[in-house]
Amino acid sequence: SNGLMAGKRGLIMGLANDKSIAWGIAKACADAGADLAFSYQGEALKKRVGPLAEQLGSNIVLPCDVGDEGSIDMLFTALAEEWDGLDFIVHAIGFSDKNELRGRYVDTTRANFTMSMDISVYSFTAVMQRAEKMMSAGGSALTLTYYGAERVMPHYNVMGVAKAALEASVRYLAEDLGKDGIRVNAISAGPIKTLAASGIGDFRYIMKWNEYNSPLRRNVTTEDVGKSALYLLSDLGSGVTGETHHVDAGYHVVGMKAVDAPDI
Ligand code: NAD
Repeated sequence: SNGLMAGKRGLIMGLANDKSIAWGIAKACADAGADLAFSYQGEALKKRVGPLAEQLGSNIVLPCDVGDEGSIDMLFTALAEEWDGLDFIVHAIGFSDKNELRGRYVDTTRANFTMSMDISVYSFTAVMQRAEKMMSAGGSALTLTYYGAERVMPHYNVMGVAKAALEASVRYLAEDLGKDGIRVNAISAGPIKTLAASGIGDFRYIMKWNEYNSPLRRNVTTEDVGKSALYLLSDLGSGVTGETHHVDAGYHVVGMKAVDAPDI
């Protein structure tokens, strides 16, 4: 433990298993001395999240479906019974019908557009409405986004539109909550093989493309994301808010296929 997060309490939302980006972030925070609470979606995930939380010394494991306002209220009511304050929060949640994470964006249905925006975008705002009340001493909030918000990426489709809205909401939340010392940022992670990512068409090809064409010539890991998250969530990031920070091996600066890239 490097003590950077000693005495800080944080809620991690979006842990599904040990491949989750939320797990890389939780580990980095726990290593730095943070006390953690976890929320999980649905009973099926409880038996996975419970033991992982325990590994990091946490026994605060609470259910929350972010599509349900009552469920978010219940999470924060239960959390307030455990803790009298909150220093940081991680929102690592996104969802879309995987049948629409392939093919053409133009074919997106109204129902899935609305659902994707609700779960992947509005939920962060809904969570911050409650978190704000527990962050009277200031705090730091982090969400996860992807380059498909900025540029067209194959198959990302409606999630790209949702991530663009999420990044915009980070800026608006940063302004509203900044006066109270609450910082709000996003990490734009490169592709990582997680449960959520497995729903995206041709994901292996996208991973290879990023590996061969990013300046670092590799893909990022959940540990890479965890370390950058630690910076934004801790006092090291004290002057940073409203930012979308790329943790993508530099892929977002590249304008063309690398000359040394092998064929995929
Ligand atoms: P993951 O499958 O491990 O995590 C996604 C989480 O979202 C799961 O824990 C799931 O339970 C949760 N979730 C979905 N709907 C929910 C709901 N209604 N209520 C509560 N929780 C819900 O996958 P991940 O890749 O770690 O995803 C975390 C975040 O990172 C997502 O926002 C994703 O879009 C983003 N991201 C992922 C990548 C990647 O390549 N894996 C890249 C950039 C950004």
